[in-house]
Amino acid sequence: MKAAVFHAAHRPLEVTEMPTPEPGPGQVLVKVAACGLCHTDLHFIDHDTPTFKAPPLVLGHEISGTIADLGAGVTGWKEGDTVLLPAVLTCGVCAACREGRENICDHNQMFGNHVDGGFAEYVVAPAKDVYLLPREIPLEAGSIIADAITTPFHAVVRRGKVVPGDWVLVLGCGGVGSLAFGCGAIGGGGGTFGLLSVACILFFSLVPFFAFKNLSRVIGAKLVMALFLGTRPA
Ligand SMILES: [Zn+2]
Ligand SMILES: [Zn+2]
Repeated sequence: MKAAVFHAAHRPLEVTEMPTPEPGPGQVLVKVAACGLCHTDLHFIDHDTPTFKAPPLVLGHEISGTIADLGAGVTGWKEGDTVLLPAVLTCGVCAACREGRENICDHNQMFGNHVDGGFAEYVVAPAKDVYLLPREIPLEAGSIIADAITTPFHAVVRRGKVVPGDWVLVLGCGGVGSLAFGCGAIGGGGGTFGLLSVACILFFSLVPFFAFKNLSRVIGAKLVMALFLGTRPA
């Protein structure tokens, strides 16, 4: 298969032939239809952020596609099923996972970071972590659900617990921040405000805790989303 392989920071990804992975027991092979480009990928490529698995590595963790093959023991899936893969694979058995907090799993494995990701024609994934993507959601558009939508959804709906009538402030309107507006609307927020990055820089410059050397690295990223504010009328 063809894959865009990451070899080192400050070097372009190299499109090359590599063996198509074979699904092991409990795994499925997914033919990639689309894979979003996340800022995390750009951090690896442009900003010297180290990957957990040393390169060469296939980046990409916003993956949609179709089931192409089933490993031993896999049931409930068939070739051609349209699927979405989570950005991060979880163990399912640690305390966090058993409490429904898979996002802080002790043993998580991220596509395009711990294991080869979706900038390739095929990727293998544990069958237990695969989600059926309804046919009415185009695969190309659906791929960003894996990270760019689930991240603000978690912040807005689960952590912010936005309900109708709430006012919502989004700091950092990059890709994730922008999608937080949609999630705010889903939650029924009474009003949603966004501060553009320039305003965020001014804001965070006043807060010593956020006086990082390179503020641009937090603007629009998940750290900003963690500062999501949802106020609740009395
Ligand atoms: Zn990401
Ligand atoms: Zn776990």
